[in-house]
Amino acid sequence: LKDRLVINRDQPACLSDGTLVELLANVNTVADAATASLVGATGVGLYRTEYLFLTHPDVPDEEEQYDNYRRVIEAAPDRTATIRTLDLGGDKTVAYLGRQHEANPFMGWRSIRLSFEHPKFFEVQIRAILRAARHGKVSILFPMITTLEELRHVNRLVDEARRNLKRAGVPFNEDVKTGVMIEVPAAAMCIDAILQETDFISIGSNDLIQYLVAADRDNPKVAHLCDPLSPAVLRMLRSVFDACRRTGTPVTLCGEMAGQPRSVLVLLGLGLRRFSMSPAFVPTIKALLRSVSTPQAERFSHQVLQLKTREEIRRYLTERLHEIS
Ligand code: PEP
Ligand code: MG
Repeated sequence: LKDRLVINRDQPACLSDGTLVELLANVNTVADAATASLVGATGVGLYRTEYLFLTHPDVPDEEEQYDNYRRVIEAAPDRTATIRTLDLGGDKTVAYLGRQHEANPFMGWRSIRLSFEHPKFFEVQIRAILRAARHGKVSILFPMITTLEELRHVNRLVDEARRNLKRAGVPFNEDVKTGVMIEVPAAAMCIDAILQETDFISIGSNDLIQYLVAADRDNPKVAHLCDPLSPAVLRMLRSVFDACRRTGTPVTLCGEMAGQPRSVLVLLGLGLRRFSMSPAFVPTIKALLRSVSTPQAERFSHQVLQLKTREEIRRYLTERLHEIS
């Protein structure tokens, strides 16, 4: 098994017709970033910085953050990492940023909304990432962007952080790209406007799906509705991919479905070429890629979009999966 994993790790991630695909890793810690290298991911597609904060008794200062981001970058495959700013709130809270009871925490004061209300703290995080970015190929990703105004606000804050670092003579990487997570349906519906003002996007399908179908992904009574293979989800994804193709904007998908074989078949057919997943799934997905060609995947996704129910879609893709593997 070990030999097979090593062979798999060293092979390029490509479809049977040679089309290259990027398999990136979602990581929460420095150790995860090292695992990403071991399994043959080509970079860290999503570093969730909240774990650094959740394991800290108070706000980590700029030096602590810089040090942590630098270590993640250095452990990441090819020193390539996309670092996401704090995505606390919802189910993840820390006392030191203020905690209040909310009837609907996932609809509430979470993620970028919380960062906006702590501008000093937010600037420290952006500065620490820009500085650490000197040690690799780094992008910054902003979670839960809902409106164009929020994107503009974020872009202004990044410009300001760059200006302040420059003025103070602090070294940082001036070529860091900034991107938006598409995980709120409002952002997906206005994707054309968003693409005009961002370098890249990453689709957070976990949240995008739960907000699209109005069902809490952690509530067992309704979680069955959070199905990536539902017609509404696939239509929304198709329109986002089409918009990215029109503008030539790089797009990654970093939710759970990026590591699920049936979903991967459809996503390939819809044109996605950058997947970010838990490192554990990389070898399986890489093996799957080698068993399908671009025209085959396009045919699958075309068929899937004719189907009207989740059950039909799942059955169709299960059959295709058995055929090719
Ligand atoms: C997502 O929402 O799909 C995502 C990748 O972010 P998280 O799971 O951390 O909310
Ligand atoms: Mg999310």
